[in-house]
Parts: sequence; C-alpha cells; structure tokens
Amino acid sequence: MSQRRLFVTTALPYANGNFHIGHIMEYIQADIWVRFQRMQGHAVNFVGADDAHGAPIMIAAEKAGKTPQQFVADIAAGRKPYLDGFHISFDNWHSTDAPENHQLAQQIYRDLKKAGLISTKTIEQFFDIEKNMFLPDRFIKGQCPKCGAKDQYGDNCEVCGAVYAPTDLINPFSALSGVTPVLKSSEHFFFKLSDPRCVDFLETWTQDGRLQPEVANKVKEWFSVRENADGTKSEGLGDWDISRDAPYFGIEIPDAPGKYFYVWLDAPVGYLASLKNLLDKRGEDYEAYMADPRLEQYHFIGKDIVTFHTLFWPAMLKFSGRKTPDKVFVHGFLTVNNGEKMSKSRGTGLDPLKYLSLGMNPEWLRYYLAAKLNAKNEDIDFNADDFMARVNSDLVGKYINIASRAAGFIAKRFAGRLGDISADGNALLSVLRAQSDTITQLYEFREFAKALREVMLLADRVNAYVDQNKPWELAKQAAMDGRLHDVCTVCIEAFRLLTIYLKPVLPALGAEVEHFLKTGPLCFADADADASLGSGHAIGDYKHLLQRVDIKQLDALFEAPAQEAPAPTAIEKIAPGGEDIAPAITIDDFSKIDLRIAKIVNCEAVEGSTKLLRLTLDVGEGALRNVFSGIASSYKPEDLIGKHTVMVANLAPRKMKFGISEGMVLAASHGDEKAQPGIYVLESGAGATPGMRVR
Ligand SMILES: [Zn+2]
Repeated sequence: MSQRRLFVTTALPYANGNFHIGHIMEYIQADIWVRFQRMQGHAVNFVGADDAHGAPIMIAAEKAGKTPQQFVADIAAGRKPYLDGFHISFDNWHSTDAPENHQLAQQIYRDLKKAGLISTKTIEQFFDIEKNMFLPDRFIKGQCPKCGAKDQYGDNCEVCGAVYAPTDLINPFSALSGVTPVLKSSEHFFFKLSDPRCVDFLETWTQDGRLQPEVANKVKEWFSVRENADGTKSEGLGDWDISRDAPYFGIEIPDAPGKYFYVWLDAPVGYLASLKNLLDKRGEDYEAYMADPRLEQYHFIGKDIVTFHTLFWPAMLKFSGRKTPDKVFVHGFLTVNNGEKMSKSRGTGLDPLKYLSLGMNPEWLRYYLAAKLNAKNEDIDFNADDFMARVNSDLVGKYINIASRAAGFIAKRFAGRLGDISADGNALLSVLRAQSDTITQLYEFREFAKALREVMLLADRVNAYVDQNKPWELAKQAAMDGRLHDVCTVCIEAFRLLTIYLKPVLPALGAEVEHFLKTGPLCFADADADASLGSGHAIGDYKHLLQRVDIKQLDALFEAPAQEAPAPTAIEKIAPGGEDIAPAITIDDFSKIDLRIAKIVNCEAVEGSTKLLRLTLDVGEGALRNVFSGIASSYKPEDLIGKHTVMVANLAPRKMKFGISEGMVLAASHGDEKAQPGIYVLESGAGATPGMRVR
C-alpha cells in the first residue's frame, strides 16, 4: 500500500471560553482517525487553532478590561491541559489572528475579487451611537414582533422561535449601552455565491459523494428554496455578506479602509494558516505541499456549521484557485445523561477538566465515546451507567483481563519468556488476525462503534479459550507445564493483537502494553502472523494496566458545584466536646465577629456572684473595657492578671446586674459540665499584642 498524505483539521473553537465536552468529543473522534492513519504508515498533518476574531470577543475583552489580543492569548494559554489531558495529538495549534492567517485571508479575497466574485451593496443596519459601532444581531434586544415576549435577541425569539430581522423588534435597544439604536447605512462587501459559476460548482461538489448522504440531502434543499437569516425566503443561494465595519477585531479588507472580514470568512482560512505555520517551522514548503495532487484534505465539524463548510468554504477555495476539501465529516451533538437539562442539583454537564481533576482516566472517555461514535451525523448520549458498564465490563473485564490472567504464570514459571504455540492456539490467533482488514475498514470509515464491537467479540473468544484451558488448573499439575506455557503464550499474543486494534482509541495504554511486552511501537502491520513475538521472546513484569471506574467518581463528576460546605451527615455525626458542631456559616458570617487580642490588666471577684469575675481589658484602644466573665469556678483573679486572651470586641454592650459588660472573653468548656467540669480561658501565642485581630 502506498503512503497517503493527509491534512486533517477539527473545527476551530471560538476563543471566548474554555473547551466544553462537545469540543473534546470532536477532538477525540478526529484523533482516533488520525492515530489510525498514522498506524497505517500514512503521513498526517493534524492541526487546530483558536478562532480569535469577531464582535463577541471584542466585546468580552472590553468587559474584562483586556485588549482582544490579550483576551484570546489568555484563552489559548488554557488549551494545553485539555489537549494533553485527553491525548489529542495535534501537530500544531495556532490562531486565526496570526500573521499567516491575515496574509492568506487577504490573498484569498484578492483572488476572489480578481475572479469577479466580490460585489458591494449599501445596507441599513442598527448603530449604537453611544458605543459608536454597528450592532451585531445578538447585541440588539427588544420585544418579539410575533409573540411580544420581552428581552429577545435581534435574530430570533427564544420564546416562540420566530426568526426575524433586528429592525422588526418592538422597542429595540442596544445590549451594550441600553440606548435605542439608530438605522445607519454602510457599504458592505459580498461574496457572490449566487453567481452561476458558484452554484454549478457547489451543486456538483456537494453531491458527488464527499459528504455523508444525510448531509448531502440537507444541503440539496438550500439550492432550491432557502430561508435567510433575516426571515426572507430566496430562491437558491444568496450572496454572502463578508464585511463588518470598524471597530471590529479581525482582518482588514485590502483597499477598503475601516472594513474588516466577517469572522466566518477568515475562520476556516485558519486551517491553512495553522498548517502553513507548522510547515514553516519544519522548513517545509507550504505551496508545494498543497499543490501535491496526492494530498487529501479532511475537516471534522459539528452539524451546526455545515453551511460554512459545504458552501462558503469550498467555493472560496475553488474560485481562489485552491484545493477543495476531499471530505467534510459532520458529527452530531453530545448530550449528557439522556439530554437532561442540567439542573442545579445535577451540576452543569460533563466538565472535561473536572473529569481529569477527579483522577478519571482520559482513556475511559475515549473508549466510551468511540464505542458510541459512527459515521453518521447523529447525536450521541453520555450515560453514566452505560459508561461504567462499558469500561468495567468490556474494557477491563474482557480485554485487560486476558493479560492479567496469563502474565503472572509467564513471569513466575517461565522466567518471563514466551513459549511455543500449538495448533488450537494458532487457530485462535488466526481468527484474530483475520479480522484485521475488517477492523481497518471500520476505522477508515469512522465506524468506531462497530470496530470496537468486533474487537470485543474477539476478546470474548480469547476469554472462552482461557476458560476452556483453565491455566490456573494447569499450573497445579507438574506434567502440564508445557501446556500452561502454550496457553499463556497464546493469551499474550492475543492481547498484543487486541492492543493493536484498540491503540487508535487507547494510545497511552498502548504505549504501556508495548513497554510490558518489550516491543516497539505497534502498528497495524504488526497484526501479521510473521510479526508475532515468537517463542523465547522475553516480556516485562506485568503491572495492572487499567483501573475500573468507581461509581463515586461519577457521582462527584455530576455533583453540582458546592455552594457551601456540606453539613456532616447524620450517620457519621459524633458530638465533639459534648455537643454537636453548629450549623455551617459562611466566611462572611464569621468575619462579622471581630475578635481581638486583649490584655487582662486587672481582674477581681464580683461581690454577690459566685460565677462571675470582673475583667479590665486593654484592647489597644486607649481606653480600657469592663467585661464580666463566668469563670470564677476555675480561676482566682490573680491567676489571670497580665495574661493575653481573645475577646469578642464588637459584641453589643450588655447591661448586667453588676454593671455593663463591654464584650466577651473566649473560654472553652465541655458541653456536659457535670461530666467534665472546668472552664479554660484562651491565651494567645507569644508576641501577640493588644488590639491584634484574630481571624
Ligand atoms: Zn416570540
């Protein structure tokens, strides 16, 4: 098989927030495919980038008191823990605000203009006179023209679902400043998608088998009747508004001062910019790479951005004289726990960083998602029970188990060396090897769920072989040593084959298995019979390769973020010091209590009271305080004079029988005075001086 050259991307995440689980799912899907291709010996460049431009980022940056450049740099700095954490093997991560992207986007625009596919038109738009800018639809609010619901966005109503233009809103206002926007006209630049050249090209391009059938069918509808974002219906494809007026965070349109590319024009160009940046770093020629007729270009995207990737993007590339994508792979959304809207009590979905911080293995998630993913544009659901069952029963129970059942005997009884395999063992291994082509095809066509099902069926056969031969019984019979060696060797070789088939999904585990088996990096060619480890090969010590999922981890993963420290549960409750811990308070509650170091400058008995002592306290205020304290049963006045203690300095003065008490000193006592009598006045550590706050 000749080596293929593949250029693979995932959709560029908008740089106004951290990754969510939907991003991670897409990256895992693409990464499995990329790793599979690399294991076939193909040359892959797999790149991503931050989508850095547009009004929402400009506005978010302003709110955060940062420049847009700073804002997106801060977001970019947070990407690595996610990508490394889930073993996503991008060759490069870049930004659409990088110089390569400015240059490429402007060049593509110039080429389109030369081809006669750029036009201008003056349009009227809402303008915020206070912010001095045209307002994007999402930053205009008002009353829905259909149902009258208040506080709706400029493009559609979240109450009745109506789609309309911002100018249709009743009592519109700017979400940025609150002022009533005014209509102002401005010249906009359009990419003439309605040009017959574009329409002809796209009608063929979208229907020639490069899109999934369900996606191609959907796209077909847009060529006949199309509902525009402003609610009007148009026959066929409409021209695409690609310009925005300053102020805008983006790329300037050449020869058009104050005009910028709409973020969606330069976002997909970021795929090329990231690739160019990668090749430049390696000293390879970008133009030559892209001009290679063998090059295959693939984009993994979500179903929400199909228009951009199947109409605008291929047309931009085609008519600027560039290579168009070979395929666009569209996936559905990931719902969590049956798509239930995450309530407060159930948390906010599946937070990828929280998953990692709980010590959950990233390869559990990779395996689980792979076991659900197919080639169709379909939503998949993360279900906690299903997750635990698949990881624990299939991955650990069926696959890992094979190694753990055989490795100990190889180490202890056969000095870590593999033995000869007899006919029945070879027959089993042949069955495993024979599935290599099927599994390869399933990976190639992104039928990951089916591929893993095949692998688990093979694991079942191996486990049946183990149960039939019972190595643990063979081990008890001295005469069966040879058979034990044979059976365990078959298990190790079977485990190696299954590891090859699972390695695109489980790269870190694959590397551990390679270390354990003392073999080089496994690729699909290693599934051939002549690549087996062979009799006499020494393997390493077996360490348990994969933990099971603990239900407590899943509970913690979906637990709502703690608002307050949880109250101790009834079962565990003991009463320290003879009484229960008081209900939880917040730090704000605590900070209301002003505790100060006080020097006891004088102390005397109170005539007529057996309980009270009268304390004269210096709290560093320049005046002394009079405080009564019920400690006479434990202290003589002279015991306390000169000591430093802690007092509540902001307790409201209390009128008592013997005078006014201006605070309270802190003292400890058991909850059951009879069981454990005694009161103990707190003393401060050495060095504390009157008036210091205790916190
Ligand atoms: Zn409405």
